[in-house]
Amino acid sequence: MELSCRAFLYYCCFLSLLFFSSKATAEEDPSAIISRFQRYLQIDTAQPSPQYAQAADFILSQARDLSLESQTKEFVQGKPVILLKWLGSNPELPSILLNSHTDVVPVEQEKWSHHPFEAHLDRQGNIYARGSQDMKCVGMQYFEAIRKLKASGFEPVRSIYLSFVPDEEIGGHDGAEKFVDSDVFKNLNVGIVLDEGLASPDEYYRAYYAERCPWWLVIKANGQPGHGAKLYDNTAMENLLKSIESVRRFRASQFDLVKAGLKGEGEVVSVNMVFLKAGTPSPTGFVMNLQPSEAEAGFDIRVPPTDDPESLERRISEEWAPASRNMTFELGQFKQKVSVHDKFGKPILTATDSSNPWWTLLEEAIRKANGKLGKPKILFGSTDARHFRQRGLPAIGFSPMANTPILLHDHNEFLNKDEYLKGIDVYVEIIKSYASYVEHTRKEASRDEL
Ligand SMILES: [Zn+2]
Repeated sequence: MELSCRAFLYYCCFLSLLFFSSKATAEEDPSAIISRFQRYLQIDTAQPSPQYAQAADFILSQARDLSLESQTKEFVQGKPVILLKWLGSNPELPSILLNSHTDVVPVEQEKWSHHPFEAHLDRQGNIYARGSQDMKCVGMQYFEAIRKLKASGFEPVRSIYLSFVPDEEIGGHDGAEKFVDSDVFKNLNVGIVLDEGLASPDEYYRAYYAERCPWWLVIKANGQPGHGAKLYDNTAMENLLKSIESVRRFRASQFDLVKAGLKGEGEVVSVNMVFLKAGTPSPTGFVMNLQPSEAEAGFDIRVPPTDDPESLERRISEEWAPASRNMTFELGQFKQKVSVHDKFGKPILTATDSSNPWWTLLEEAIRKANGKLGKPKILFGSTDARHFRQRGLPAIGFSPMANTPILLHDHNEFLNKDEYLKGIDVYVEIIKSYASYVEHTRKEASRDEL
């Protein structure tokens, strides 16, 4: 009895040893993970001449390591869109698309404390590099999460795609926009897209469900020209100034909502005057004793898709540029006007309530990874996510960087290595839950049957 007991004990010890040693090999040394991130950061993909070929080689080598299927598409020569696939056990289900862009914005190198493409790791664990936040971190975190999932034996039900796209920083027209319009994209049968968000200075991650749409407006005023000494009504300058005053009152009312904490920066209409053009040129500057017959002002307006575009258009035509004040503005005379509606006529935003299961799954996954998620927001600028939302697809902007100052496009952009590693675990949970999710389709199927 005693002997068999001891034998059993030895056997248990042997088993646990086996278990711990196998666990030790599954858990990779974090320094290897960080060094892969650094290698991607060291490729100079800054606009206007990104080293796309080098970036593509690196991405494809990562894909080979992870046995992901790959294809490279150049919708525009020299601007590769790299598409990777982890096949699901039920490829009929809508797939998951994890998108990231490979380019970064330019740098003013002399203003950096470390070389922006060296990926220097300092004593605090901060990794300094252009792209460390925007958004090579996310692209690599997708890879690392997949590496962990594969090591754990996880098998996806839905297929998972990774897209690495060029040119986001210059509008994405030759990258994500062409990709989304292609047959290649159509065949992916995408159900949900994850794209970039922003760092968050507090402990809460941020997720973005929409972006504001740019409306670039030029208002022209006409009026009677006349002597600079004469007081009379309806001069072009006076007419334009009345408009500018009205625009400024509106701007202040929107800004007040942000200052009072009632609305986020992305939830109000912003209006900023970007140019003023008036006056009669002379060899020494401008003619001083003449009131000109024309004056012009340009405005950068950003409209959240939650806003009512018709009421804003009315405000423009009735208050900012009324024909009664000799303003020549007519509706439609925008330099650029991005619709707040998608191609199906719906507001271009992704639902963040129980009507969207992908949102609920994201919330749960972040919680499971011991992360905290703040209230979803509208991004104040633009990203590639808009190209996907334009097609009516749900797209969530999310970059898991809490406790991190927002330094995208800034000098000394950095990300702390521990925050980066934590973000990988967040993606492990998200990918696991997205790729295993089948409920939505069952519901849809039963609805179809009815
Ligand atoms: Zn970005």
